[in-house]
Amino acid sequence: MDTQRLIAKRARDLHESGIRRILGMASSMSDPINLSIGQPDFHVDPAIRAAACAGIEEHRNGYTLTQGDGDLLARTAAYLGEDCGWKVSAHGAKNGGETTCMVTSGTSGALTLAFLALLDPGSECIIPDPYFVSYPHLATMAGAVPVACDTYPDFRLTAARVEPMLTDKTRFVLLNSPSNPAGVVLTKRECADLLDLCRSRGVLLISDEIYDEFCYPEAKTDRMAARADVARCPSPARLPGAEETVLLIRGFGKTYGVTGWRLGYVAGPRAVVSEMAKLQQYTFVCAPSALQRGAIACFDADMGPHVAEYKRRRELVVERLGEVTEVPTPGGAFYAFFRVPARMRMTGTQFVEKAIERQVLTIPGACFSGRDTHVRLSFATAMRNLERGLDVLVEMMRA
Ligand code: PMP
Repeated sequence: MDTQRLIAKRARDLHESGIRRILGMASSMSDPINLSIGQPDFHVDPAIRAAACAGIEEHRNGYTLTQGDGDLLARTAAYLGEDCGWKVSAHGAKNGGETTCMVTSGTSGALTLAFLALLDPGSECIIPDPYFVSYPHLATMAGAVPVACDTYPDFRLTAARVEPMLTDKTRFVLLNSPSNPAGVVLTKRECADLLDLCRSRGVLLISDEIYDEFCYPEAKTDRMAARADVARCPSPARLPGAEETVLLIRGFGKTYGVTGWRLGYVAGPRAVVSEMAKLQQYTFVCAPSALQRGAIACFDADMGPHVAEYKRRRELVVERLGEVTEVPTPGGAFYAFFRVPARMRMTGTQFVEKAIERQVLTIPGACFSGRDTHVRLSFATAMRNLERGLDVLVEMMRA
């Protein structure tokens, strides 16, 4: 049978992720210094592991409600009350308010459902360039047009940059702060301007805050930060009245080191989240049940020491790379996005290939962007590894 003939255009048009290609090249390396991986390098907190195991032992192995385990939903809603001042009622609750939340299969699950619920063929959404790899493809899979907003050289998705890209076909603007691949964090003022713009133009602001706990402020000014001894990044969700315009997406995977558990959540206008819940019924059905019990314990875990360690690494990265090239200081997440110096006359991809010859693995900027001028480095790796890798990269850029 000619199975090729049977393949849908939406699949055919997708090319394999550039990241996979680089990882394929690296598979022959004997002892790579891996600065490419986008997942935390610490073990999961014992209380979180115990709560997930208890979920299995207590026979919570069947489906949960579409919108999630009731206790996890209640805990998430309470947390959003504390963190953002949102009054969130569980999806489907009788006499519920206008704001609701749902547990999803990873942050990716929430993003997928949001794109499917909000985009018609031909409609548009504004995404930053550089972007998290899935964003443009989620839009095209929905038949829609991803409109990339150029944020070089500082990688800030500001209202001034977004405004000229809005049309009557725009359904939402997608903000990712702290960002992948640059680790850039918007200020409260920038969040407010973007929110005002979206509100005034009647489009949603989707805020992908998967890295929200990895925040490295210079000074602790935030009240919550002082209390929890963990820094909080500014979020449009914390601004007055935000819950009418912001669709907030957060995840458990990166923050608590449980990326394989596939757990995230979405919160925002009931009218949108309800549509996403319908789509979840017919696709993911529900997020993994026993692991949702583990996620309840996440809210009590103290990630402060891990964040402090990542901040130390961030400092080293900025100091070393800053000697030889342009690199915006990552205010959050665990990535730095640096420019290949112009005098090297090399694309980001060529630079990454040269670094592979020297056993260092990074990701070309072209995987996240229409441009191929930068390289992404992940500092979610042991300090010793990071030091060795930086020595090589700095030497390459100095030569
Ligand atoms: N958003 C961003 C910005 C990401 O970097 C990632 C993962 N690298 C995701 C979403 C997807 O995360 P999850 O594993 O929770 O689906």
